[in-house]
This record gives sequence, structure tokens and C-alpha cells, in this order.
Amino acid sequence: MRSMRENDSEEKLIFERSRPGRIGYSLPPCDVPATPKENLIPAYMLRKEGLAFPEVYEVDVIRHYTALSRRNFGVDNGFYPLGSCTMKYNPKVNEDVARYPGFAKIHPYQPEESVQGALELMYTLQQDLAGITGMDAITLQPAAGAHGEWTGLMMIRAYHESRGEQRTKVIVPDSSHGTNPASASVAGFQAVTIPSTAKGMVDLDALRAAVGEDTAALMLTNPNTLGLFEEHIVEIADIVHQAGGLLYYDGANSNAILGITRPGDMGFDVVHLNLHKTMSTPHGGGGPGAGPVGVKQRLIPFLPEPLVVKNDQGHYAIIGSRTENHGSEGTGSPVSTHSIGRVKAFYGNFGILVRAYAYIRSFGSDGLRQVSEDAVLNANYMMKRLAPHYNMPYPEQRCKHEFVMSGSSLVPYGVRTLDVAKRLLDFGYHPPTIYFPLNVEECIMIEPTETESKETLDSFVDVMIAIAKEAKATPELLHNAPYTTPVTRLDETGAARKPVLNCTCG
Ligand SMILES: *Cc1c(COP(=O)(O)O)cnc(C)c1O
Repeated sequence: MRSMRENDSEEKLIFERSRPGRIGYSLPPCDVPATPKENLIPAYMLRKEGLAFPEVYEVDVIRHYTALSRRNFGVDNGFYPLGSCTMKYNPKVNEDVARYPGFAKIHPYQPEESVQGALELMYTLQQDLAGITGMDAITLQPAAGAHGEWTGLMMIRAYHESRGEQRTKVIVPDSSHGTNPASASVAGFQAVTIPSTAKGMVDLDALRAAVGEDTAALMLTNPNTLGLFEEHIVEIADIVHQAGGLLYYDGANSNAILGITRPGDMGFDVVHLNLHKTMSTPHGGGGPGAGPVGVKQRLIPFLPEPLVVKNDQGHYAIIGSRTENHGSEGTGSPVSTHSIGRVKAFYGNFGILVRAYAYIRSFGSDGLRQVSEDAVLNANYMMKRLAPHYNMPYPEQRCKHEFVMSGSSLVPYGVRTLDVAKRLLDFGYHPPTIYFPLNVEECIMIEPTETESKETLDSFVDVMIAIAKEAKATPELLHNAPYTTPVTRLDETGAARKPVLNCTCG
């Protein structure tokens, strides 16, 4: 059994290390006359009391944050099999390339002539992503998957409005990612949920009944959130198109389709990709991300600007304003009057785009296809090995890059999926996604990705099997797991509702 270091829960809060008067820097004496702050800042803007910052030495800061960082779990220190949120290893060459001074030290206001390389990179990435998705044009601006969804839906809205049509509803299957109905609602649509069949597919009769003159779009991912390929995708596309709606592809996790099939060929009109899932850029805990959006021809006029284009002389240029206020216009073609406008400052998160570009270029098209083939192989291998020990809700189907299983066979022993997930922590694994999608009870959703070896997959499966056996023999053991982590079983609702953020200062 692998176990984490025990009992390292004594790490104090930084405020508890604080002692009055301790400082963490030493600066030379000021060589210009000091001016009292009262002379510089109007009295009403001056703070009445000092800030309640901890007072510590430099080494206290370093030890404190280093100790906390060692409690982090990431894909660089262990297997991270989250379903619906591809957590694959990010090759370090992507990081190196993003740090080249020519990429890292340029400024978005620089003249086009001085950043031709960066523009070429963005242009080529647009082309590559269009090729991968089967779309006609790409915007790199959106900063995340959900942001891409919203951007795509705003274009769909602008498209229908430009034709004088009032379409208010966006249809989503019940297995869809939570961001789909949320984005639809933020974009001003009403989300309509349709059920899945017992085989985990879109219910075609329910879809036929749901579409109509008010249908703006259907949002779908394929393979769907159960890891299954929609067998009737062509028919689904026909039903929606015949009703005058558009098809939106949630391509957040495209790990199953690279080089094998394309949303554009399946009949989709809009797609977003999560570069932090499929293209191995950092997930970054809310930091900079990218969710580029691809569209078919008829939606091109509605794309956000700026866009990077290449002119006949092989010169790269910018279409549209680079910023809202500063009016640093590009030299490309005129701005589209239908554009939904900018959705992010400048070009989006350029450093992330560099990493995705490096990833795509280092694999090439054959390599990307291999990525998906290996991802699908790994998922099926694990599903087969786990099938005798957990319920498989869709046993007759082969999965794609991920699969769902159910802990329902352990419920008679008093053990729930949450207990299994908590117990995994004792073995040094980050648990998979649980209780999602919502249409499978006691759901456990696993995506191994292509970057794991057979040994890693086998070790994880062995642990999952051992836990299923524990659940039957000693269910009480699982109820209080984990035992080896800095904190054990938490009251998660209490932690969310009544967080204690800082107990000693002030
Ligand atoms: C992760 C994910 C999203 C949302 O992406 P963010 O970058 O987290 O906003 C949307 N759809 C699916 C299927 C996802 O897995």
C-alpha cells in the first residue's frame, strides 16, 4: 500500500507564526528625503488602522508555503483519473517554449511588424484547430471552456437575430456538463433538458418533441459525458437543422476524437475546445486558460475580434481593434459589423496558446491520432478489468476516452461511492469524478488518459478492487476514511457554508 506521510497536520497558519516587528526583507536606507504619507494622500483615503498582515521572517514564509505546496496533489506527482476533465500529463517542452523571450516578453501594443512570429503562431494555431475540429474559422480569445460556450451561444444568438428570428431555447441532454445549461442561461436563453435512453444516448423521440420554431441550438458532446459515442449523430443534426436550430459541440474533452473524427463532419456548427484538457496546457487553478471556439462559414461574420489573418504577401495582420479603449487598430480587413465584439483583452491568453501550439506541433497529425487511440484503449482496458467488481451501467458498449461505473453494488453493505473515493486517498490516489453525470446513481467516472502506463492503470485498478473487497468485509473501515491525510473525513457542507478563513488575526 502506498501511503502519504502521516500526521503532517501540525502546519500552523501564517498568522500563528507572526511576531510583532519581524520583517522578511532588508532594504538599504532611503537616499531621497522621506515625505510623510499624509502629505501625499488625502486624509479621507488614508487607512485608520494598520493592515492585519502577519509579521514573519523570510524563512518562515518560505517554509510555510513550501510545506503547503507539498500537500498539493497534481498530475506531476500522481495519477489523477478525473472523468469529464481530462487531466493528462503536460509535456515540459511546452513550458520551455512558452518561456522563450520572444513569446514571453512581447507586448500586445507592439506594432504588427515587430511581432510577426507571434501572429504567425496564432494564425497557425487557428488553422490547426480548424483542421482538427472540421470548422472554417477559429477565435482564440475565450479564456476557458465555459467562456467559449458563452461566446459560441452569443454568436448563435446574433445569427438568429440577424435573420429576424426570435429563438429562445437551447436544448441540452440530461448527461450534459453543468456549464452547458448555465452558459445558455447567461447568454439569455432558456435551457431545456431532454432525457437519455437506457443505452446512454440522446432520446430521439424526446428531441423531436423538444425542437420547434423557438429552438436556437442543441448543445451536445460526442462522445457524450458517459464516454459513449452518439450512434445517431447524423440524424440528431438533421432534426435540429430542419427545425432551424444550430448544433453546438462541447469539445472540452476531445481526447477521444483527435485525428479520428471531427465535429464539423458530424454536422456541428460551433465547437469549443479546452486547451487545458485536450491540448495539455495547465489547468492552473483559475489562472489563465483558453477555450477557443470554431465556427462554420455562416457564423464567421459574428466571430469576436481581433482575429489574426495572413495577407497575400505572407504578412500577418490583425482584424479589428486590439483593445476597446485604445483603438490600436490592426491593418487587416475592415471590422465586421456583425461581430459580437471582443470577449477578452487583446488576443486571449497568449502564453497558453503557445503551449497548445507546441503540443500540437510536437505530435503532428499522426501523433494526435495516436493520443486518442491510446486514450480510448486505456479507458477500455480499465473498464474491462473493473467490470467484475463494480456495476457497469452500459456493459454492452465500448467506451471512448472515459467511462462511468456505479458503486451501487456496494450500497447493500452500507458503503457509498463517496466512501470509496475517500478511501482511495489512503492509497495515494486522487479520486475520480463522483456523482456525475447525474443520470447514473452512485456514479464513478474515470478517464485515465493516454499519458499513463499499463503499470499505473493496473496499480489503480488493483486498489479499486481491494476497496470493493474491503467494502464487503469491513464496511465500517470505509466510513471514516481517509486516515492518512492531513485532515480526515470532513464535514464538506459545513466547510462550504461556514468557512473559517482566518482565526487568529484582528
Ligand atoms: C470542463 C468542461 C467544461 C467547462 O470548461 P472550463 O474550462 O472549466 O470552463 C465544459 N464542458 C465539459 C464537457 C467539460 O468537461
